[in-house]
Amino acid sequence: MFAAILRPVPRDPRYDILFEPVRIGPVLARNRFLQVPHCNGMGYRDPTAQAAMRRVKAEGGWAVVCTEQVEIHPTSDVTPFIELRLWDDGDIPALARIADAIHDGGALAGIELAHNGPNAPNLTSREPPLGPSALPVRTWANDPVQARAMTKDDIAALRRWHRAAARRALAAGYDLVYVYAGHGLSVAQHFLSPATNTRTDAYGGSLENRMRLLRELLTDTREECDGRAAVACRLTVDELVGAGGLRREEVEQVLVALDPLPDLWDLVLGTWELDSCTSRFGPEAGEEPFVAGLRRLVTKPVVGVGRFTSPDTMVRQIREGVLDLIGAARPSIADPWLPRKIEEGRVDDIRECIGCNICVSGDMTMSTVRCTQNPSMGEEWRRGWHPERIRPRACPDPILVVGAGPAGLEAARALGQRGYPVVVVEASRTLGGRVAKESGLPGLAAWRRVVDWRTGQLDKLEAVEDYRESPTTAEEALGYGFARIVVATGARWRADGVGRWHTAPIPIDPDAAVLTPDDLWSAAPALPPGARVLLYDDDHYYLGGVLAESLVAGGYDVRLVTPASVVSSWTANTLELERVNRRVRELGVTVDTDRALAAVGPGEATTICTWTGRSATVAADIVVLVTARLPVDDLHTELLRRRADWDRADLRSVTCVGDALAPGTIAAAVWSGRRYAEDLDGPAGGLGDGPDGGQAADPAAYRREYTALAPWPPEPSGVTDE
Ligand code: SF4
Repeated sequence: MFAAILRPVPRDPRYDILFEPVRIGPVLARNRFLQVPHCNGMGYRDPTAQAAMRRVKAEGGWAVVCTEQVEIHPTSDVTPFIELRLWDDGDIPALARIADAIHDGGALAGIELAHNGPNAPNLTSREPPLGPSALPVRTWANDPVQARAMTKDDIAALRRWHRAAARRALAAGYDLVYVYAGHGLSVAQHFLSPATNTRTDAYGGSLENRMRLLRELLTDTREECDGRAAVACRLTVDELVGAGGLRREEVEQVLVALDPLPDLWDLVLGTWELDSCTSRFGPEAGEEPFVAGLRRLVTKPVVGVGRFTSPDTMVRQIREGVLDLIGAARPSIADPWLPRKIEEGRVDDIRECIGCNICVSGDMTMSTVRCTQNPSMGEEWRRGWHPERIRPRACPDPILVVGAGPAGLEAARALGQRGYPVVVVEASRTLGGRVAKESGLPGLAAWRRVVDWRTGQLDKLEAVEDYRESPTTAEEALGYGFARIVVATGARWRADGVGRWHTAPIPIDPDAAVLTPDDLWSAAPALPPGARVLLYDDDHYYLGGVLAESLVAGGYDVRLVTPASVVSSWTANTLELERVNRRVRELGVTVDTDRALAAVGPGEATTICTWTGRSATVAADIVVLVTARLPVDDLHTELLRRRADWDRADLRSVTCVGDALAPGTIAAAVWSGRRYAEDLDGPAGGLGDGPDGGQAADPAAYRREYTALAPWPPEPSGVTDE
């Protein structure tokens, strides 16, 4: 059954070029797939979890698998972000574990050494931040501290720290050592850019002077590696801020001047926000216009990214000389086995990245990486999940899944992969639940992949059947004879104003036109174009902003009201905040931030300032409420109420998953469905081995790294009580 999915077929010869080995200085990449350095929210806190995650990618066919940026010194402390550290020899074992795991999987291990300069506020180390110039630190939180301009001695010290980190990287077993000058996160870029380098000495002014530090770091790293590891340079090709910043014209000169030093050029765009553009704001291969033409300036291989999931696009970029290696961060998260699937002729099985940047939100919230498409991401060691493998069923219990949204589809798919007979019943005519609806909104078409991949996999599983237009009552569910029932019936948006600001319903006149997102995608509002729509967003993720766009496209005069100080505030965690706020304004949406909706009347709405409480009334023909959702859990509740009937129906368990349990992100719904399938008939108490090796009693437990305690009491400090 599932073996049909796994059976390799010969790879399509069109893709042969992707599997040619590439020499990178002293090392040989087995193919052209390179997992570029990417953050993951694990860092120094969760090195074993990271090792397992990277290993799965190596096993999945990537020729090179890299770490995220690795802080080289306490003056590069990016707290609160959790990245890897290589401050001293004590950090080597954690880094070595990751390198060993990558080697176990069959790939070369790359490490990205980073001194973050003025991007490091040093909140933990409390060292004064360092930068080319005396300027405020460049952090997301606008920390109230400035970097001091580095002296010549500071620069010499930085070079020593970087050399020491390179030596430690070699000791940890890495094959490829990065010098980082990208994403606005590295001091080497801060020196390169006239926006951040206003020095007048030998490290400032002319381009030759501004590139001096990068030249020195590359030279030092090359000397330290001395043919035992390759040297890569990750370089921003354009900061896209015009003449005041680092421009392509200058980067072309840098590439030519420094080409003898690295063994690999890794080309990125501007800041992290620019380089990791979501699908809502940019297509696959979106970096191509910025990178094209640079390859001919250098003699070393070039890697670049572009959220690549199409092997045809990859081949084209290689053949047209844009890139030599296909770089990937997000596509390798969504499908760690992407290269292997191309190699095995299973392109249809690739779980394509949807470009939502939920993975980035892990790093931004200092939590373990997660992925909308790949629920096993970050769970490889913690819970023992694998993106491709799952243990066989323990018994032939037939399972009914009610609801075919992201949670129901993933539960059915994973249960089917385990070999369980599964029936999915869906009340509507389409599979996909909220994803099917939301992917029709502006910019979200790629999100449809969440449904398409799962339905494609379900089609290959003979033991899984789906029935549409099949609303199911508790009586019917009990009468079908399933041993287990999974309730994945989703959630619906509230129409009473309750959300974060209001925890009780607001006054709404019965004659007022009030709609929810569910109303919007079930039928167009029956008002003529030009009607005044007030969209109240107290949800703060993407939907309010996207619906505002959609309503503008429908010809409405849109006012977006939100208690937050920015539109779609949580999209800061998906690197979209700036684009969202720019777009709604460019579209002509009237934006009222710091205001809460207080009441709705016929043709008008009252809002209050969240700071002063002062109220104002604005005209509104329709009010759209994007505030909070209620689980649709009637079936679950009724089945639990009828527990006395379970034995008669041969029913052993009823479990609620996804939004029907607790509304959240699509990623959370997919994860919830997967968790059901993983936990079913699993070891009692879940997978969380306690420190004594026994099973943890709490099913919510998972494996975690325990802090190694330092010797206690500490060595005498020399301070006396005189
Ligand atoms: Fe792609 Fe979204 Fe997964 Fe990130 S979370 S890898 S953007 S699908």
